[in-house]
Amino acid sequence: MSGIQAIKGTRDILPDEVGYWQWVESVARTILSRAAYREIRTPIFEQTDLFERGIGEATDVVGKEMYTFLDKGDRSITLRPEGTAGAVRAYIQRSLYAQGETQRLWYTGPMFRYEQPQEGRQRQFHQLGIESIGSADPRADVEVIALAIDILKTLGLDNLRLDLNSVGDPDDRRQYREALINYLMPYQADLDTDSQNRLERNPLRILDSKDPKTKQIVQDAPKIWDHFSPDSQQRFEQVQQQLTDLGIAYRLNHCLVRGLDYYTHMAFEIIADTGLGAQNTVCGGGRYDGLVKELGGPQTPAVGWAIGLERLIILLRQATEAAPAAPLDFYLVSRGDRAEAQATQLAQMLRHQGFSVELDLSGSAFGKQLKRADRSGATACLVLGDAEADSQTVQLKWLALGQQEKITQADLSTKADEFRERIAQARA
Ligand code: ATP
Ligand code: MG
Repeated sequence: MSGIQAIKGTRDILPDEVGYWQWVESVARTILSRAAYREIRTPIFEQTDLFERGIGEATDVVGKEMYTFLDKGDRSITLRPEGTAGAVRAYIQRSLYAQGETQRLWYTGPMFRYEQPQEGRQRQFHQLGIESIGSADPRADVEVIALAIDILKTLGLDNLRLDLNSVGDPDDRRQYREALINYLMPYQADLDTDSQNRLERNPLRILDSKDPKTKQIVQDAPKIWDHFSPDSQQRFEQVQQQLTDLGIAYRLNHCLVRGLDYYTHMAFEIIADTGLGAQNTVCGGGRYDGLVKELGGPQTPAVGWAIGLERLIILLRQATEAAPAAPLDFYLVSRGDRAEAQATQLAQMLRHQGFSVELDLSGSAFGKQLKRADRSGATACLVLGDAEADSQTVQLKWLALGQQEKITQADLSTKADEFRERIAQARA
């Protein structure tokens, strides 16, 4: 096909699908605002440096997947691959910490990663995320997890699993690192290439390798839990106890890690065992007590998550019909100069009264316009020809009922409430 195509790894969300997106956004908005989260909108591009420091150069995202370019002023710019770095940058730059102990933020929008596109994996995709910045209390961890579960459950998705872990603090991890390297060394040749490269640089990340053989090897690896300080241990237990108290089921998974120093303590993922194939993680999150400081702010604990909306919507489409779009009240048919001029005004007047109105702009024969009216799903059709224009009247056709009556145009405005009621009856 000739003509310009959308860029590889991007998708158009067409009007027939957008109802799912609006539904997710409205459920999230309601649930998050009930918990005092406020929306933040940050730019979709930032200095490259922000992501290099904020996500870490050892990660796949920064190492392989960033959309980075020089702008006309020779500045290195990156399209945001995730939302946390930008939110934390804004938190620091706009001194949100001066506004109170805990800042609860949420965001949604497009993210960009140069990856191999496949089902549930795109180059432009969307996330919904939250950040609770300022509290080190395990209750903050539990609050963010509970909110993710609430959103997913309210959308009707309850066939999901919560995997939970703690990666301790940087001291715990320094000790654990040694133990892990000692365990993995004898298996070095059997590890996948990525993992071999990580052995010295970032051995914790080997734990979440997707390679079957590596997976087998790490099953029996020493667990970070055995290297926790009493404080780390206690926090991990508190999170688990409070989840249990809230009736939230979880599975402990010692292989769930985030390998960077500013990730601390709790880490979790919400996974769909069926429906998503290999890309089955819907939500990932955790605590990042070192990030605000790493990006130049005051030492500030924080915890958050991000949901991948494409994956969520794949699941929703399997589970439910989209919320139906609100039906159209009137389809407006007109032909002839005077009739068309009056129809334009009538449409405007009806919309101001709160009705939904589709105005036929084709100028084609009445028969063709009426066929379109039938297909439009409108409850009623208004027909204006020259005769109606001359007498300031209009033919009102109740499409589903097959009834027709002649009314004055003025009635539509003065008796709007009556017509609203009749539309509701005709639909019932
Ligand atoms: P994955 O292991 O699938 O690559 P990730 O660890 O890179 O995920 P995060 O950075 O934690 O993912 O992002 C949170 C969520 O965003 C993921 O769980 C997923 O649902 C979604 N996500 C991440 N990358 C993509 C992508 N390229 N396309 C669509 N959704 C994505
Ligand atoms: Mg990824």
